[in-house]
Formats: sequence, C-alpha cells, structure tokens
Amino acid sequence: MKNHILLIMTGGTISMKNAGKLGVVPSSELADFLQQFPQLDSVANVQVMDYLNVPSPYMTPQMMFDLAKLIDTKILDYDGVVITHGTDTLEESAFLADLVLTTRKPVVFTAAMRSGGDLGLDGPRNIVGGVRVASNTESFDKGVLVVMNDEIHTARDVVKFDTGKLGAFTSPGLGPLGIVDPDMVIYHRESLYRENVWTEALDTRVDLIKAVSGMDGRYIDCSIESGCRAIVIEAFGRGNLPKDLLPHVQKALDQNVLVVIASRTHTGRVLPEYGYEGGGKDLRDLGCILAGDLKGIKIRLKLMALFGKYDDADTVRRFLKQSHEME
Ligand code: ASP
Repeated sequence: MKNHILLIMTGGTISMKNAGKLGVVPSSELADFLQQFPQLDSVANVQVMDYLNVPSPYMTPQMMFDLAKLIDTKILDYDGVVITHGTDTLEESAFLADLVLTTRKPVVFTAAMRSGGDLGLDGPRNIVGGVRVASNTESFDKGVLVVMNDEIHTARDVVKFDTGKLGAFTSPGLGPLGIVDPDMVIYHRESLYRENVWTEALDTRVDLIKAVSGMDGRYIDCSIESGCRAIVIEAFGRGNLPKDLLPHVQKALDQNVLVVIASRTHTGRVLPEYGYEGGGKDLRDLGCILAGDLKGIKIRLKLMALFGKYDDADTVRRFLKQSHEME
C-alpha cells in the first residue's frame, strides 16, 4: 500500500522561474505542476499544501517555528511530511524543526538550486527523492532529514556549502547519511547525536557575531544595549578571541547576557584548550559557554528555543553546558 505524504511548499528557487529582465522570481506554478507529476504518484499518495511562497532569505525564526508547529500537527494524519524550501536558509528551518518537533515520523526538507526553465532542473528530482525518503520505513526516528542531489543529510550537520552547484549541500567532515538511488534508498550510517527542545514559544533576542582579526567590541556592546539575552560569537579556531574583546564579554556576563562561543571554522569542536587571555579556556573560566561542534547559526536557534521554554538565563546556561560542554 502506498504511503500518504504531505508536501508543504514554502517557496525558494524550487518555486521560482526566470522572468527575463525581472530575474528569477517566485511563481505560482509549482503546485499545479506537482499535482500532475506522474513520478510522484508512483511513489506515494502525495497531497500538496501551498503554505507560503517566499524567497528563503525572508524566513524569520518565528516563521520557521510556525512551520515546525504546522508539521507537528499535520503529520498526525500522514506517514511523513516533505517541505520544499529555499536553499539559502534551509539548514536553519530544518534544524529548528529538528529541535522542536515531537514526531518520530519522517520529515524531509528539500529544495532546488535551479529555477523552472533552467537546463538540468534539479527541483522535480529532489522532490521525488524527498518523497521516496519520507516514504521509506528506515527513515523513521532519524530526526529531520535534508534530501538534495540524491543525498540524505541530517538537519543538524548539513550546510549550504556552495552558492551555485547542484551538490551545494554537504555535511562537512561527516558525509551524507545515505543516498537516493534510482532503485532504492540506502542508508550508510546512523546519526548518533540527537537533541530536542520541546517548546511552545521562541525568544528571538539572540545575536550572532563573527570574529574577525582586529575587531573591537562595538557589536557586542550594541547587542547588550539592544536587550539581547544571549550573544553567540563565532570565534577563531578552537574558540579563541582577541584579548581586547574581554571587557565587552565581561560586560555582557555582568548583565546576565549569555555569551556562547562557537567556531568560525567549518568542522570540529570548540574546547577550553588555550589559556592565554581570550583563549577558549580563559573564556570558559570567565563564564562563557562553549558550543561544542554546533555552528553559530544553529546554536543561535537553539538558544532562542531554550529561552522560549525556560526564560531564566541560569536554567538556559545549565541546559547548554550539559549538552555542549559534555563534562
Ligand atoms: N534565494 C533562493 C532562496 O533561498 C535560493 C534557493 O532557493 O536556492 O529562496
């Protein structure tokens, strides 16, 4: 018997077409196209929900959260859900959904690098791949998945690595969980690390600042003054900062603003290794929290979810330390 899959459309290049002088712009044609797409019909009973049609840079954390809540409710009536999304912020929407969803049924995000009318269009193939993965029994309880270019990735590890290539999505240092071959879906490995924050609200007052050589504390001060609850800093290497930032970091901590250190490198964990002023050990001793291997844009969303659930900075700090410093 065929599975029942809900396909929720949110926009992105997969829903766009090239309108000549106007450039690549949203189009309303994908929903109609999918209703008659024969390859889909042979895989599952697919119902299409035309939920949004926005370029994904327009997505906000609150919109991502609302989408996750929609998935969690709608999936009660289906065997799995596939979401089409713009590639630019897909890893954020997929990760936030992964954090807050309570379902164990398959939830798959997919997208396209090429718009309708382009040569070598990837959207229809990715949608069919996404529906096949969502219909596969092995996809149960794997967390939110991302299917692009015949590969299956976890929402936690996947990044948009390239601005234009079909194989733009990778899981750096880890590789895909599996592949979507013409005859079958094959999983090669498990993802052993899962985390959830089951919250009914987000608190979006969390900023992300990237460390660059010679930077000063203006952005940190600005975040504190604008009332943010936490600042994520994408620091250098293992989690190190210039010592000139320390008074600004201290000011944040004194005002009960959490300072969370991620790394601006592509793979690996931050560690309390370097004890010089501004080194990761020094920052941790000061009261900063180290984000493990989670990238800045993802730990930012996790903080929004934790503050939405607990409100109290000390409770959020304890949850984060438990899941990221692992000591
Ligand atoms: N700018 C587009 C978006 O994210 C890119 C894409 O979908 O590939 O909406």
